[in-house]
Amino acid sequence: MIGITFTEKTMAARKRIALVAHDHCKVFLLDWAERQKHKLAQHELIATGTTGLLLSQRLDLPVQSMISGPLGGDQQLGAQIAEQRVDLLVFFWDPFEPQPHDPDIKALLRVAAVWNIAVACNECSADYLLSSPLLDQPHAHRIPDYPAYLQGRR
Ligand code: PGA
Repeated sequence: MIGITFTEKTMAARKRIALVAHDHCKVFLLDWAERQKHKLAQHELIATGTTGLLLSQRLDLPVQSMISGPLGGDQQLGAQIAEQRVDLLVFFWDPFEPQPHDPDIKALLRVAAVWNIAVACNECSADYLLSSPLLDQPHAHRIPDYPAYLQGRR
């Protein structure tokens, strides 16, 4: 990796969790979220537009909704990840259907990898994330050292 060094950031005990589901996967995300409602309620929830609307109705919890994914909502979430404002990403992407906004999906997953946040792509991995003892405690993790990166660009 050229020109990137790393530093450490500590996530707060109360996590900011981003949730997204493609249309055919929304039923799986909603069922999973209802089953995990007691845990999700302890954290801050954000989502793409339609996912967020459906989640807030189903869970009766506040969900900060971006605009709909295909209209730029994935990019809005990606921007928040780059600003270090997201701790976990639960993204039930559809492995069977091509999506018109595929570049945005790739960008969202890429930026999540860049900023070293935890990502779950289905119920099983999302259960593992939410059952982690790290979920409810501060957690130090490695992130790109942007000030050092800029220094190297001078
Ligand atoms: P939506 O977007 O929640 O607005 O349906 C999800 C997506 O990225 O397709």
